[in-house]
Amino acid sequence: MAIDLVLRRDWLARAPRGDYTQLDSTQGVKVHYTGGLVSPGIVDDHGECVALVRSIQGYHMDGNGWIDIGYSYVSCPHRKVFEGRGLYHLPAANGPGLNAGHYAVLGLVGNAGLVQPPDRMLHGILDAVEYLRDHGRAGKEIKGHRDGYATDCPGEPLYAWVRRGAPRPGGGTPEPSAPPFPGRLLTYPPVTRGQDVRTWQGRMRERGFELAVDGAYGPESRGVCVRFQREQGVADDGIVGPVTWRLAWEAPAG
Ligand SMILES: [Zn+2]
Ligand SMILES: [Zn+2]
Repeated sequence: MAIDLVLRRDWLARAPRGDYTQLDSTQGVKVHYTGGLVSPGIVDDHGECVALVRSIQGYHMDGNGWIDIGYSYVSCPHRKVFEGRGLYHLPAANGPGLNAGHYAVLGLVGNAGLVQPPDRMLHGILDAVEYLRDHGRAGKEIKGHRDGYATDCPGEPLYAWVRRGAPRPGGGTPEPSAPPFPGRLLTYPPVTRGQDVRTWQGRMRERGFELAVDGAYGPESRGVCVRFQREQGVADDGIVGPVTWRLAWEAPAG
């Protein structure tokens, strides 16, 4: 699928405040996240993506004093790729001394709200990477912002994906989809019992966790839940709610 670009005029970008520094080639691309709250509702509303990219540009220009948004491209949950500084222009987001080495691509996830990158966002990041290789003399590397710079960016889920070699989602077997959320929270204490607990426990065993599939959500299940939530970068409250339930099936294996 060809890259689905959102050009600067389409997202009503402000004009850069100065001349870009020319970039002839790079070793590759560094992947970023917003580092803040991304409203989960963005997944259902591309208009929110546009508003968020505009606000990031404003923050970079008015807060950081940069000439423009710091990223080369931005991928949203709808597999659309916003044009930032674009091809052959030095980004600003990688950190001092590191911008000439890599283009900078942002995925619109944060450290709260939308934390787990949807498959279409990962595709969009890779669409941007391939575009930069084909048209912007980007090298083969795909790294995270934290590689070479002291930052949490791009967050655990995106960084884990980068470390796995940034695969296209659903390349081999299609991603399993989660059974419907049972409609109640699985919590401890007191012990929660039922077939829904058994279903969740069975899935966690398939993911490689050690636990009994006995239909009783006690301290052992709670411990597995907390570890899984930390692995996925969501709040580690030890409660299987709708998000933790869905991630058990849909999150890429760690
Ligand atoms: Zn970053
Ligand atoms: Zn979007």
